[in-house]
Amino acid sequence: MNIGRDQTPAEVPAWIEQDIDGNQIANIQQGGCESGAYMPAVTYYKALETMSEHGDEVLQHIQDCYGELPKPRDDESWAGMAVHYLSISVELWAGGFEVLEDGEAACLTCEDTFTTSEAYVRGDEFCQDCAIGDDAKEAQS
Ligand SMILES: [Zn+2]
Repeated sequence: MNIGRDQTPAEVPAWIEQDIDGNQIANIQQGGCESGAYMPAVTYYKALETMSEHGDEVLQHIQDCYGELPKPRDDESWAGMAVHYLSISVELWAGGFEVLEDGEAACLTCEDTFTTSEAYVRGDEFCQDCAIGDDAKEAQS
């Protein structure tokens, strides 16, 4: 899935900060959550909070990608396990994106890429075709 550096994906799972952008995704791909690229997954109290609310989905996401759940490390704390699994899941999710070069954006509907200097609309989130399609739908309702 293509994503521009300043763009937020159209769909972000509930267990990831909803305002995550392409830049953060690129940093997660490069250094993992642990590098500081995604603090909510490596901060104990934040990770515990997220896992108590969405833990089932997070573990399911890992299983869907790997076919099984990786074993926890020995002597791991409960909070450490929350960080461990949430980080893995966030990194797997981030890995599904192709982060575009500076100045490029992707249409959040059809994934066509375009440069942000071109005359596109709505915060560069849609290509002209999809934006026009949306407006037409709105006009009908
Ligand atoms: Zn489009």
